[in-house]
Amino acid sequence: MGAAENSVAPHALKAIASYHAHIYYDQQTRGDAERLRHWIGERFTVTLGRWHDALVGPHDKAMYQVAFAVEEFPSFVPWLMLNHGALSILIHPNTTQPLADHTVHAAWIGVPLGIRGEKLPHDADAEPPQEPNTSPTLRP
Ligand code: ZN
Repeated sequence: MGAAENSVAPHALKAIASYHAHIYYDQQTRGDAERLRHWIGERFTVTLGRWHDALVGPHDKAMYQVAFAVEEFPSFVPWLMLNHGALSILIHPNTTQPLADHTVHAAWIGVPLGIRGEKLPHDADAEPPQEPNTSPTLRP
């Protein structure tokens, strides 16, 4: 190992205040996105965000956001892996580094899409978990 590697400390998990899943769709797949959203609401304690048919923030395609707490990750993300169908989903942590969160720290389920990094700040306050707006009745 060189000196540069020794001087870099890894990020601690406690840097992650919450997560987002961004579920992308287009005219052809909007019905699939509606069905997935319904399934999510039946099964997970999360915050379902508004539909964004028009481009918003760094996102290169229409999407809606699902905000969720760290504790939901081990069940929600694997479930999305199995059930996303043809939809692309961006999973990203919320730390104090929004640009990194949406790029180098992010994971994709399905086909990766573009992220408009110029729309994101390098540094910001981390987004805490939001108030859930679902009332799940089914086990995933
Ligand atoms: Zn997000």
